[in-house]
Amino acid sequence: MPVISGEEIWIKVQKSLQDNLSKPSYETWIRPAQYMSFNNDELTLLAPNPFSCNYLKKNYSNTIQSLGEKFYGKPLKIKFKSNKNTNINNVTLSLNNRDNVKDKNIYDINKKIKLRDSKKSNLNQRYVFNRFVVGPNSRMAHAAAMAVAESPGREFNPLYICGGVGLGKTHLMQAIGHYRLEIDPESKVTYVSTETFTNDLVFAIRKGEMESFRNRYRAADLILVDDIQFIEGKEFTQEEFFHTFNALHEVGRQIVLTSDRPPSQISKLQERLISRFSMGLIADIQTPDLETRMAILQKKAEHERMRIPRDLIQFIAGRFTSNIRELEGAFTRAVAFSSITGLPMNVESVAPMLDPTGRGVDVSPKQVMEKVAEVFDVTVEEMISTSRRRPVSQARQIGMYLMRHGTDLSLPRIGEAFGGKDHTTVIYAIEQVEKKLSSDPIIASQVQRIKDLLQIDSRNKKIK
Ligand code: ADP
Ligand code: MG
Repeated sequence: MPVISGEEIWIKVQKSLQDNLSKPSYETWIRPAQYMSFNNDELTLLAPNPFSCNYLKKNYSNTIQSLGEKFYGKPLKIKFKSNKNTNINNVTLSLNNRDNVKDKNIYDINKKIKLRDSKKSNLNQRYVFNRFVVGPNSRMAHAAAMAVAESPGREFNPLYICGGVGLGKTHLMQAIGHYRLEIDPESKVTYVSTETFTNDLVFAIRKGEMESFRNRYRAADLILVDDIQFIEGKEFTQEEFFHTFNALHEVGRQIVLTSDRPPSQISKLQERLISRFSMGLIADIQTPDLETRMAILQKKAEHERMRIPRDLIQFIAGRFTSNIRELEGAFTRAVAFSSITGLPMNVESVAPMLDPTGRGVDVSPKQVMEKVAEVFDVTVEEMISTSRRRPVSQARQIGMYLMRHGTDLSLPRIGEAFGGKDHTTVIYAIEQVEKKLSSDPIIASQVQRIKDLLQIDSRNKKIK
């Protein structure tokens, strides 16, 4: 790997993000951030103001870190500084340096970038074993995951990991992929969400490319299929997945599946798939206890090189009990809150922000609808209709999610607000959005924008 400067890394990361983010997101957040320094594997970026700095930290630090590591070729840390509060002398110097980089230069460097050149490209760099905190709730799943990575295709085939939303299924599953590739870089690891598998299948059928579809999926040494419960009721996908499963299983390739429930509880799942899914090991992840939740936050703080007092960690861990994604979110908000307000990181100053009994500002369902419609360029009428057009259904799902987080409406009432949808539809929508928030930076930034506009979260509505 040739030596690459910090500045080049940032330019490459920016270019990648430019290709992958919406224009407004890129222009608002990424372009204005400037390279500042690169020492001891720590890349420091300079945001134009504290707000933007906080926003970058909250929404883009993981993405920037994984892209940065890809270009750097080894682990690095990302740090953000804000222009206003910074008193570091070399800012101006760095800024001048950056101005010297000609557009053409940037273009040349970036022409060479291929996002998908890496085998690990669709694995999240964060989802590795050493960033997974093992607790009594996940001990068995973790042990099974390690075993599978070390000796694939043996005892536990398939390994079926199940557990509620935000409890670490995807993390653990991808950790298997990372570890496998570390042990055997030649190994073909395929990570796919069930949704992607379905879409690929539909596309292959439409284009008459079934053979290449089959070749692609059947070439895997290790296949990781996330959220298999979404195969529910999809007859044709089930049919094809059954054959993919058999083809791989017969030749001893390892299959790992995750789901929010055991195979027998997925309704409208063919009997033969239930039996295939149950033939290896079903390992579940439960909700973590307080100690484990604290350890998770502690680890996160260490990774971000922050010193957070233990009682604050305990305070946050005590309030967010059932979903680690939400736990992490609360932690990040606490950090952002103290960095924006300049208040110290302690229970006293952070509690009012996280405490649902604090001063909240009511957001009306109507406001949520209108804001979502505006940002996603659809009409309120469309959102409450039954239209399944993709932009409409996406906006509808996000509307439901935000109504859940920004208002006091119950799930059935949210369903009603959207033209009489069932509350299970609302639950499904919320789960979908939660997934997208962690996988799709564009959606995440749009949702964040609406939250900012409506002042959801910062005014502590609906923080459980
Ligand atoms: P799921 O797929 O079950 O919905 P994820 O794997 O996406 O959940 O996990 C949600 C978030 O919580 C991720 O950021 C993940 O890194 C983090 N997380 C979950 N479990 C753990 C754990 N045991 N240790 C550290 N982080 C965890
Ligand atoms: Mg998941």
